[in-house]
Amino acid sequence: MSLEERDLKYVWHPCSQMKDYEDMPPIPIERGKGVYLYDIYGKEYIDIVSSWWCNLLGHCNPVITESIKNQLDKLEHVIFANFTHEGAVTLCEELVQVLPKGLTKFNFSDNGSAAVECALKMAFQYHYQTGKPEKIRFMYLSDGYHGETMGALSVGAMDLYAKIYKPMLMDTIQIEAPDCYRCPHGKNRKTCQCQCFIKAEKMFEEYAKETAGIIVEPLLQGSAGMRIYPPLYLKKLRSLCDEYDVLLIADEIATGFGRTGKMFACDHAEITPDLMCLSKGLTGGYMPMSLTVTTEKIYHAFYADYNEGKAFMHSHTYSGNPLGCSAALGVLKVLKEENILQIAQKNADYLSKRMNEEFGNHKNVGEIRSIGLIHAMELVEDKGSKKPFDSGLRVGYQVYKEALKDGLILRPLGNVLYFNPPLTITPQELDKAIGIAKKAMDTCLTLIEKN
Ligand code: PMP
Repeated sequence: MSLEERDLKYVWHPCSQMKDYEDMPPIPIERGKGVYLYDIYGKEYIDIVSSWWCNLLGHCNPVITESIKNQLDKLEHVIFANFTHEGAVTLCEELVQVLPKGLTKFNFSDNGSAAVECALKMAFQYHYQTGKPEKIRFMYLSDGYHGETMGALSVGAMDLYAKIYKPMLMDTIQIEAPDCYRCPHGKNRKTCQCQCFIKAEKMFEEYAKETAGIIVEPLLQGSAGMRIYPPLYLKKLRSLCDEYDVLLIADEIATGFGRTGKMFACDHAEITPDLMCLSKGLTGGYMPMSLTVTTEKIYHAFYADYNEGKAFMHSHTYSGNPLGCSAALGVLKVLKEENILQIAQKNADYLSKRMNEEFGNHKNVGEIRSIGLIHAMELVEDKGSKKPFDSGLRVGYQVYKEALKDGLILRPLGNVLYFNPPLTITPQELDKAIGIAKKAMDTCLTLIEKN
């Protein structure tokens, strides 16, 4: 039996209709190097989506690998209640230097959704313990995505993941998100003054009294199709949260560590959230780890004699895992010593130029949008009216399958195709990816037009 057949006998893959695997079996990957993955037959794939956006610095980066290996010879894991270790402490010390000012307390988990759950529980408990027990609800933006555990789904807007579970979810409050491509106020990215923020203001007026916190993906709603909104919106939200004593939770799981051109997306708006969730790029995709970072003020609302029952009684077996910390330390070392943010900026400028050249006038490319090195193209039936393709056509998925034949992993978000590669990709590799993407798009769109 082939590896693919053995896989399908037992494995239930994430976020997949398993029936689709009948005509597209799983691709058996053997190894990776830089932006490339290689399957067991030796075929090369450009991992332009950074393996679910976590592979920040390329596969098998020697510095990160070395850091993990060194740790592995010393200590693989230790209970993190009452115990500590050098890697966790050093990691906090180093992160404090680069995080928005005021974020100084770190709670460790092992995946993004868990970090979100922590943030939600902390926000609720903070208010409960500071005399506002009526603040029991959460706000979130439409089209927002924060993971797939129950709490995270409750503050997620995407029906694709949440709809079926709605009867089980928390009663949350949705605020209409900015939609800069199809702006309801008729503005464009240059003329925008965040007129849409009035919707947030109205919801705060009505619901802030019962609201513990609002969670947002700062500047980039990734899963919604790499939807990008301006820093001004985030700045206004920070002020509104202060005015109404609602905690601002920044989910930087996808945006952190240079993805948006600055170390954190919040840096574009020069704000400090009350709680920040980190994962993915934190370990460069080498080990599962996440952090919920917060301020002294919030931390001290939990600090009391044990019998007062104010502790944050939340734990994960792998909290503070030393291998995870060693990977994160490796990432920080590479980011710092190899000037990665400057390299990423150069790559971003190059990619913007090339994408505009190749796709700027394409009749089915509605918008090319970018932040940092992340670039996305929204495919539409009609560029002028921005009319979307019929979702039943699965245009994005067709292009994905076509591009895979030529060795490009262009896993789409609906009809949005995007590049979110390791920051260390080279211009030549970007060109190669653009070439394959263009060919795949032309093949699929010509076929669709004919039918
Ligand atoms: N928040 C955001 C913004 C994300 O992009 C993701 C993952 N795509 C998550 C939360 C959930 O992280 P995880 O998949 O590690 O649970």
